[in-house]
Amino acid sequence: MALTGLDIYKLLPRTNCGDCGVPTCLAFAMKVAAKQSALQECPHVSQESQQELGAAAEPPQKLVTIGTGEWALKIGNETVMFRHDEKFHHPCGIAILVGDTDDLDAKLGRVRSLTFERMGEIIDVDTVVLNCASGDAGKLKNAALRVREELSLPTVLTAGSADLLRPAAEAVSDSRPLLYERGGPSDALIQLAVSLRQPIVVEGDLQKCDADAQKAKKAGVQEMVLCPGEVGVLEALEFLTVTRRAALKRTYRPLGYPVLVRACLKDPVLQSLEACQYVNKYAGIVVLDVDSPEYVLPVLVTRQSIYIDPQVPVQVEAKVHEVNSPTETSPLIVTTNFSLTYYSVLGEVEASRVPARILTVDTKGTSVLTAWAADEFGPAQIKSAIEKSGVFNQLAQGYRKPVIPGLVAVISGELAEELGTEVIVGPKEASGLSRFLNNEWPKLVG
Ligand code: SF4
Repeated sequence: MALTGLDIYKLLPRTNCGDCGVPTCLAFAMKVAAKQSALQECPHVSQESQQELGAAAEPPQKLVTIGTGEWALKIGNETVMFRHDEKFHHPCGIAILVGDTDDLDAKLGRVRSLTFERMGEIIDVDTVVLNCASGDAGKLKNAALRVREELSLPTVLTAGSADLLRPAAEAVSDSRPLLYERGGPSDALIQLAVSLRQPIVVEGDLQKCDADAQKAKKAGVQEMVLCPGEVGVLEALEFLTVTRRAALKRTYRPLGYPVLVRACLKDPVLQSLEACQYVNKYAGIVVLDVDSPEYVLPVLVTRQSIYIDPQVPVQVEAKVHEVNSPTETSPLIVTTNFSLTYYSVLGEVEASRVPARILTVDTKGTSVLTAWAADEFGPAQIKSAIEKSGVFNQLAQGYRKPVIPGLVAVISGELAEELGTEVIVGPKEASGLSRFLNNEWPKLVG
């Protein structure tokens, strides 16, 4: 939360001396708040005020980066409790637990396959928690090297002690893993994290996390993730909510870090539901044991839905989408690029098994009637989209007859004039498309 002009004013000497080039302290504070001046331009501001301003300007929740480059997972740095207040900025990581005693070929293959396409976006598992189940530091190190080589995913390394973690952490230090000593961090792990400049997990109840996070910060650890340990759903949700609220409401800044939670329920369906709860309520990383698509997909879908900006309509690319391998005699269906509209139309066209093209007009992600009312889906816009796409060149002469939604039948005459061709009015709802394409369309072009 940015400081207001009044917050800054309280930190100034309030003498209105004008030495900063601004007549009053209040006017200067307003300029600092608007980032038009720096606090240092006041020669009389105290050291304490400068420190206080610096601390207050820090984000309420630390941004933590795990991994490097294009695969880096950035979590935290959230600014609101509720998505509708603004939006959530950094989607939480969805992690699969992998043991160093697992059949890594099979396990990593399953993790790799957890990639799906939804609403034009790829959604997938983006982290692996590699657990030292063997109690053997060498085995953990070899497994960490394999995970890095085969998955290119940010990794959380976890073991019962810093000694078990050290060889693996050093071996893959260039990929910046998150170090998680269960029940930790011990002084040895803190030293290791400082020397390798890697983030760590601080595990325990709120009191322990508070004390350990402050200790690690003092020792020089820059980035941390809190974790309540293996607790029940209620305790985990309480931990997530309290830490988020304390940081964002600035009632207790030392808890301003993202949180890693593990979905522990044994039943896979319940574990999936548990994980969805944590995604909804503030988790930075959610760890699952289950790795089957039917249990992981709901969690990924929940994350995608929660981290969409609620103030920006979800949209697809404005272009010609080919369905069922269309030919030059296939229908051309025109609609808007509002995601929900497009996927409703797409589903019906796919189900009809009729080869077709769907032209999505750029209406800034609004639905048919909204776009029409806002003058975004009228004859001029549709004509422009058809010409820009060159789709008529893909159609035979008698088939250049765009099908428009029945909801905007009123524009059909003007559009026909603009295009110099016949315009067909389709069904009002997408649900009528399958029947229309199979029964009406052949008669209209026959
Ligand atoms: S120099 Fe400092 S004390 Fe003087 S008017 Fe500017 S802000 Fe106020």
